[in-house]
Amino acid sequence: MRVPFFDLSLQYRELSHEMQQAMEEVMETGSFSGGPDVEAFEAEFARYCGTAHCVGMSSGTSALHMALLAAGVGPGDEVITTPMTFVATVAAIEYCGATPVLVDCADTTLTINPALIVEKITPRTKVILPVHLHGLLADMRPILNIARERGIFVIEDAAQAHGAEAEARKAGAFGTMGCFSFYPSKNLGAYGEAGAVVTDDPALAHQLRLLRNWGAEERDVHAVKGFNCRLHGLQAAVLRVKLPRLEKWNAARRALASLYADGLAGLDLTLPFNPGDGGHVYHVYAARTPRRRDLQAWLRARGIGTHIHYPTPVHLQPAYRRAEYPLGSLPVSERAANELLSLPMFPEMRPDHVARVCDEVRTFFSKG
Ligand SMILES: *Cc1c(COP(=O)(O)O)cnc(C)c1O
Repeated sequence: MRVPFFDLSLQYRELSHEMQQAMEEVMETGSFSGGPDVEAFEAEFARYCGTAHCVGMSSGTSALHMALLAAGVGPGDEVITTPMTFVATVAAIEYCGATPVLVDCADTTLTINPALIVEKITPRTKVILPVHLHGLLADMRPILNIARERGIFVIEDAAQAHGAEAEARKAGAFGTMGCFSFYPSKNLGAYGEAGAVVTDDPALAHQLRLLRNWGAEERDVHAVKGFNCRLHGLQAAVLRVKLPRLEKWNAARRALASLYADGLAGLDLTLPFNPGDGGHVYHVYAARTPRRRDLQAWLRARGIGTHIHYPTPVHLQPAYRRAEYPLGSLPVSERAANELLSLPMFPEMRPDHVARVCDEVRTFFSKG
């Protein structure tokens, strides 16, 4: 039995009829840019996240970029984030002309270590940008406290954490703004590129709407210098079909994670941190072992797909290297990047798939 790392076709089989109808409607009415589905999705996703506003964007990257601009981030400003993320987080900061200030992650969670943030704050610090890596909420309470005391914005990179929650609040609703990606493989995925920013602040929501649409208050009046970062009508229609199923899919991911935790217990393998109570939505199920390359090859030879998220922390990527962050400067992230191996995880995965992966991992370790 082969186990793919990920399979979207199973989900489409469940949705095809509804999806075709939803897309047909967009095509018949020609509402490709903006339109009723975009507005409806924004209202529905804001309600889902428990925020007053949602502004659809063309991608998660543009969501981060527009949110930072709306917060007033520009040249000379500093934004604190972690190197244990997809490059888009750091790239969005650089798009604004600001300087990314990198703080190492905590070893147990792999999200930004709040204990290391304060020493990095300077008069130029404008934003703290935690990343809910792999679907696990960052340690938000201390982060929010640090920011509140100093009048700094918190913007969440929730691109991997749709629906993750703690203390009855959902990812994206902790900070001043929360940024989402709906890249097809995310927990809530469009059929192409899409993203959104959620916020409770009406002035920021207004600014985000301007920025994503060429700064136009009304047709042909460009109040600020904006961008073309609108959410597409077809993608909004797709997302509206999927959103009512997100809780069910996240629950399925949690159930699979729990099977993995049982099936992999007692091995020389560090399993993902489990905060309980819905704090993790397992966008990725990443285990850690110094032998991950051998384990990956072993599983590949047995028809089991795996990935590495991410093999290189951002500060060691050729395009993002800076003298301030040489090899060894962010050791927890660097070690994790050498040890992480993501096992198959998607809501339609079956319990016998998990059992098969666990069996092969057990056999690998039993051979020493
Ligand atoms: C996917 C992702 C992004 C970028 O989103 P896109 O929609 O691909 O632009 C940003 N940050 C994180 C953590 C991501 O996983």
